[in-house]
Amino acid sequence: MSVLSKLEKIEKFLPEKGRSLYLKQIQYAIYKRGTVDFMQMTTIPLVLRQKLKQEIGEVLSLKNIWEVSGGQAHKVLFETESKDRIEAVRMLFKPESDDSYESLCISSQSGCALGCKFCATGAIGFKKNLTSEEITDEVLYFKSKKFAVDSISFMGMGEPLSNAENVFEALKILTDKDFFNLGDRHINVSTVGIVPQIRRLTKEFPQVNLAFSLHSPFPEQRAQLMPVTNSYPIDKVFEALDERIKLTKRRIFLAYLLLAGVNDSLEQAKALADLIKKRGPHSYLYHVNLIRFNPGPEEKVFKKAERETVDGFKKYLEENKISVSLRQSFG
Ligand code: SF4
Repeated sequence: MSVLSKLEKIEKFLPEKGRSLYLKQIQYAIYKRGTVDFMQMTTIPLVLRQKLKQEIGEVLSLKNIWEVSGGQAHKVLFETESKDRIEAVRMLFKPESDDSYESLCISSQSGCALGCKFCATGAIGFKKNLTSEEITDEVLYFKSKKFAVDSISFMGMGEPLSNAENVFEALKILTDKDFFNLGDRHINVSTVGIVPQIRRLTKEFPQVNLAFSLHSPFPEQRAQLMPVTNSYPIDKVFEALDERIKLTKRRIFLAYLLLAGVNDSLEQAKALADLIKKRGPHSYLYHVNLIRFNPGPEEKVFKKAERETVDGFKKYLEENKISVSLRQSFG
């Protein structure tokens, strides 16, 4: 289903006379003002609003079924029309400072087929690819609540580049000036390394931020943790990343989830540093984001890395001139 399906559906109920103007007004109300109740679209006649409400009902294709807000995170569980569940999280960074900003972490699939061993979504298995309308409706929901959305990360449920058609269409609509009008540089796509789609992203969205979830510099260990490595080996992914860097001269983020006793040793830190240095003159454009694993209540295998181990790992990278930061974890 196309992202425009919402507007196509609406168009069917508009009178022939004045149709394109009404459609423009409705599009503006939805995507610019975040109005998701037809009755609130006061720029169009009441009788038309009533008709749309009666025939279509809801503007949003997702139903909010649970919501929790606390501290710096605001989490929403949505249900799609097919009754599959996904979640989106709004996060507030640097809340006390003048340059505080809000970032939205959205899902691209319900469940995921790739089965990374440490991932709760992977344990659910694949349920469905979200349509571009469902993906962008996650953003629209927060917009309708009048939250400023400064940046968007495809880091929720699912592997975005495994649902490439819908994700690329969603990217178009998120950046389109007549829809969400977000700058490409305010969008982050996180991938476990789907090589052909990384190349497509470089071609179509060179300015969008890209994060590669590496989690181990050792191919065999990574394949155990992340079976996708068997289809897209680490060195093939880096070839595509190096090409992107050469073309865009922009940073690429390497996500590294620290799992206690698994991938948090200095041996791994050294291998990670070597892997990055091997990139040659552009190696300084790789930035490592260390993330401390936060085990859920169901987690039986992996544990949170010790604070001193995390500090030691980070220090090793810094001493070896690798650009690195420890990401804030919201759980
Ligand atoms: Fe989880 Fe992402 Fe791996 Fe899928 S690709 S199992 S969502 S970490």
